[in-house]
Amino acid sequence: MSITVVGSIAYDAVKTPFGERERMLGGAAVHFALAASFFEQVRVVGPVGDDFGEAELQVLRGRGVDVSDVERIAGGKTFFWRGEYGWDLNSRETLDTQLGVFEGFQPKLSVPSRASEVLFLANIQPDLQREVRGQLPDARFVALDSMNLWIEDARDSLVQAIESVDCVILNDAELRQLTGKPNLFTAAREVLSWGVSGPQIIVAKQGEYGAALVTAERFFSLPAFPLESVVDPTGAGDTFAGGFVGYIAAHLGAGELSEEMLRAAMAHGTALASFNVEEFGTERVVRLTDEEIAARVQELREITRFS
Ligand code: AMP
Repeated sequence: MSITVVGSIAYDAVKTPFGERERMLGGAAVHFALAASFFEQVRVVGPVGDDFGEAELQVLRGRGVDVSDVERIAGGKTFFWRGEYGWDLNSRETLDTQLGVFEGFQPKLSVPSRASEVLFLANIQPDLQREVRGQLPDARFVALDSMNLWIEDARDSLVQAIESVDCVILNDAELRQLTGKPNLFTAAREVLSWGVSGPQIIVAKQGEYGAALVTAERFFSLPAFPLESVVDPTGAGDTFAGGFVGYIAAHLGAGELSEEMLRAAMAHGTALASFNVEEFGTERVVRLTDEEIAARVQELREITRFS
């Protein structure tokens, strides 16, 4: 089942205790698309400026990602984000966000992008997420991510966007901020109650501590894959989402979403994210192989097994 994703396509400037990059390929939609491309055909929707290089588009094409709905805006500037991490990589400060071509962007989705059965609304202005959601009314599985900036600046629109999806994937701190509930479970339950046919699945990303899955009846949690060397966590959340949603797109078929499928999707998201953080930006994931992913999923199975 093919996947359409809308979200930031960016240049990132990132400083971590292990090095820095002044201008590297990034963006939520990019990290998501690269990860999901290991499972299904992915189509990226979003604008870039005329400063966006052909080499960067080639990174996506190199993984088979369809970039025909990446619109180049003449005279515009590509989304830019600058962030810096603290010494243990757990804290991150955003130093600059320049929306550039995303300001006033009107997405015009091609017929194939509108025909995708799986949609991921990656982190970007929630008005834009809603507009794209509206263009895929019949999608079978729709998931959404967001962040503190949009919770603070565009909460009403974000809540409406959330009410239109099946699955919400957020950092645990953002889930608390969004709902005003200090407890993760009550925060997740609150979001599960939104909308007439709103979300049935909440994934709370917990950085180096892993991720938790909350549904009306069930709870499941996985630690992050244990790594001794983490270089740059940028995009880990989007890469997790790419593995999670990609796995679901590849396995949903004609049936229903099962608990087993969701748990396996969590494991694949966790494995993908663990590769992403080993190097800067997209550097590690572009060299990744299916065999490496399968091996890490198997190791995760081992480290979480008990009787
Ligand atoms: P993550 O580390 O998974 O939270 O995602 C990092 C990516 O999100 C970076 O590549 C940024 O380009 C992108 N990003 C940062 N801030 C925003 C924002 N306000 N809206 C959309 N994307 C953003």
